[in-house]
Formats: sequence, C-alpha cells, structure tokens
Amino acid sequence: MNIEKLLIANRGEIALRIHRACHEMGIKTVAVHSTADAEAMHVRLADEAICIGPPAAKDSYLNIPAIISAAEISGADAIHPGYGFLSENERFAEIVEAHDIIFVGPKPEHIRVMGDKVEAKRTAGALGLPLVPGTDGAIEDIAEAKQRAREIGYPVLVKAASGGGGRGMKVVPDEDQFESLMSQAKSEAKAAFGDDTVYMEKYLGNPRHIEFQIFGDGKGNAIHLGERDCSLQRRHQKVLEEAPSPVISSAERARMGNLVAKAMADMGYRGAGTIEFLYENGEFYFIEMNTRIQVEHPVTEMITGFDLVREQIRIAEGKPLSVTQDELEFHGHAIECRINAEDPVTFMPSPGKVQMLHVPGGMHVRVESALYQGYTVPPYYDSMIGKLIVYGRTREGCLMRLKRALEEYVIEGMKTTIPLHQKLIEDPDVQNGDYSIKWLEEWLERQKVE
Ligand code: ADP
Repeated sequence: MNIEKLLIANRGEIALRIHRACHEMGIKTVAVHSTADAEAMHVRLADEAICIGPPAAKDSYLNIPAIISAAEISGADAIHPGYGFLSENERFAEIVEAHDIIFVGPKPEHIRVMGDKVEAKRTAGALGLPLVPGTDGAIEDIAEAKQRAREIGYPVLVKAASGGGGRGMKVVPDEDQFESLMSQAKSEAKAAFGDDTVYMEKYLGNPRHIEFQIFGDGKGNAIHLGERDCSLQRRHQKVLEEAPSPVISSAERARMGNLVAKAMADMGYRGAGTIEFLYENGEFYFIEMNTRIQVEHPVTEMITGFDLVREQIRIAEGKPLSVTQDELEFHGHAIECRINAEDPVTFMPSPGKVQMLHVPGGMHVRVESALYQGYTVPPYYDSMIGKLIVYGRTREGCLMRLKRALEEYVIEGMKTTIPLHQKLIEDPDVQNGDYSIKWLEEWLERQKVE
C-alpha cells in the first residue's frame, strides 16, 4: 500500500528529517506539536499541523489519544515516531495498527522483546549473537549469582532489566559488596522503572561502543549497513559518532554484519534497527537493540549513499528492501557532532532565542537542525539543537573538513557545545581514533585541571 499522508509524532531535527523524506517521496505530512512548538520549523513546513497539548511531553508528544485523534482528523494513513518519545512503546505501535494506520517501525512484538533487556539478551543469544558472560536471565537466587560471578570473575555489573540511560546499574568490585550493591541497584531500578528485576554480567574494563545498522523487510530478509563507532560518550550519552569505526577491518565488518543480518532475518524483523555491542580485545558483546531510527543514522547514510528514513517508509508500505547486501558499498568516512544548547564546560542547559545563525556549507557538509534565526529554543525538551555531519574520502580528510565546518558554524543567543567539539577533534587520541567508552569522561576531567 502506498502512503499518501504521514503524521510525524515527534519534534525538532528528526521531525524535519522525516518531513523531508516524505516530500521527496510525494507524501503529504502532518505535524503534531505542543503549544511550546507552535513556531517550530517542522510545523511551518508540514502540509498540516495540529496542536496536541501543553509543553510537558507527557501531555503532548507522549499523549497517545491526542496523537491518534490527530491522525484520524487529518486522515493520515501512517505515523512515524522518530526516536525517543513513543518510538519504542509497543502499546503505541499496537494502538496505531489497531486503528488501521501504518506504524513506520517494527512489529510491536519485537519492540516488546527488545525493550526488556533480559529477554533481549536471551533472544540475541538464541539468534547466535555473542553475549557478555553473565547470569542466564534475571537474578533470582543470590548464592547462585555469586557462584556465577566467581566463575566469570570480578568486577561484575548488576543491571536493571527495564533500564535505560545508564540508570539502575552498579559495578560490583568484589564478592563482599555483592549483596549491598545489588540491593542498591534494585531500589534504583524500582524507583526509576517500577521494576526491580536485575541481571548480572561481566564488567568490561575498557571497551568501545560499536553498533550495527540493519534493515529487515518483516518477511525473512535483512541487510546490514555496517557499523558506527559511538564510544565518545558522556554519562552514557553519545557526543560524537563516526562510520566506519577506526578499529574494525572490512573482514570483521563483513563477518559481524552478516551474523547480525542473519539474526534479524531469522527473527522476521521489520524496518530499521540497531544492534549495539561492546567491543574489547577483538571480541563483540551484545548489549542491546534499538528498534527505531537513531540520532546518528546520517553517518551511515553518508558512507553508503542510502536514505534510511526513505527505506523505513518503503518497508512500512510493504515494499521489499531496495538493495541487496551485495549492492551496498561503503565509501569514505563520516563523522557526526551532536550540537547541544548547553554550556560547553558545565553542560548546564542554555535554551534561548537564536540571535544570529550561520550554518556551515560546502562540499560534503550536512547540517540536520530545526533552528532558524529568531527561533526560541524551548526549555522543555532535549537540549540537542543540531547535528553537523561531515564526509571525507579518508578519515583524515573528514577531520580536516569537520574542523573547517565547525569554524563556520555560528549560533548566537545561547551557549552551545560547538567549542567542545572544536577542542575534542584537536586531541591526538581522537585524531588517531584511539579511544574507548571511558575516554571522554577522563578527558573532561583533565580539561578541568588544565
Ligand atoms: P542503557 O539502556 O541504560 O543505556 P546499556 O546496556 O546500553 O544501558 O549500557 C549503557 C552503557 O553502560 C554502555 O554504553 C556502556 O558504556 C556501559 N556498559 C553496559 N554494559 C557494560 C558492561 N558489561 N561492561 C562495561 N560497561 C558496560
């Protein structure tokens, strides 16, 4: 079935990204927005716009009845959830489909399975993906868990099954502290997610975060689009991402990519997905799967020339994958910097009115942002205000172009993390691709001293 009108259940740069893909496909768009976003760029550009509630996300972007009503009133035949908000809410996907509206995303069942980390890990293991050694499911018996911890070796990590954003996680250095740290993790998990189920796995000392982009057609076919290296993180939030990873060889990419694609084909997965791994000493360890489009998807687009959002929509229409694995080629290097409206040193949010805006341009420079001069960034939502994505034939060339593009980028009226990125890419470790998931926090500590 061809989609004629699509409702975008999101805001900011991703709403704009989806709008653009739709208009390039001849699909009309419906924007939904909170009262705080009446002047937002995607609202201005969409063919129709419907206000769905007050600023607080729970009353607007997370308000399922209001979004479904907006789809019915506007006659939209599909809903794209973007990332965050309702994108990984299985009940939302079910309700959308129950209203005979196409959900641009996976089958609700797969959102559910991958949303529970214990079940996700079990499923990934059954599909042949390598796991971090740990308990086989939730911790039920403390003595058994301690025995398992002795086998895999300390330190171990106790994690919340319903976890997200790094919460409900405790590193246990030795057996003496096992019980007290486990109960701390449990009460943190209970408070944050209303579920105190925890599981345990080996704590990896210095891994990289490497994730594979996949697409499935929901009918048993799947492809991979290579990996992204997202190791540069602060508080488990990605700051800069690149593709390909500086440490993955093409043989390794093909081997892991094919393993992941086969797992998704066997599962009958539909749409875009990301399989996240920790990578240490040449080994991959599955940590979780995201059943949606990711913030960092453009770096994959730059090195494959493949439009991921367009493909999501095509698959939602029931079309086959538009390329075979053999047809996909990887060229060059791409890096994305997430630009936040934050103080680049203290990371305090700094929303405000855009007094002056100059966006970098030139060859192979891409800006994904919903900012415009005179626009006021509202204080209610995520502080990311743009993404700068740069391509180069080589990683070195990409870094030089990124430096040049960051120099051109001017956003006046608020503090942004542009200066942080400028400093970061001058560091020899970043230039050499020599970093792990711990690197950025340690680097930030060193900056304070200097
Ligand atoms: P969340 O959903 O809370 O983000 P993840 O399972 O994705 O949880 O883990 C978040 C981050 O925690 C990872 O990106 C990594 O930095 C760290 N982490 C998770 N599991 C381990 C592990 N077994 N060893 C070391 N670090 C880990």
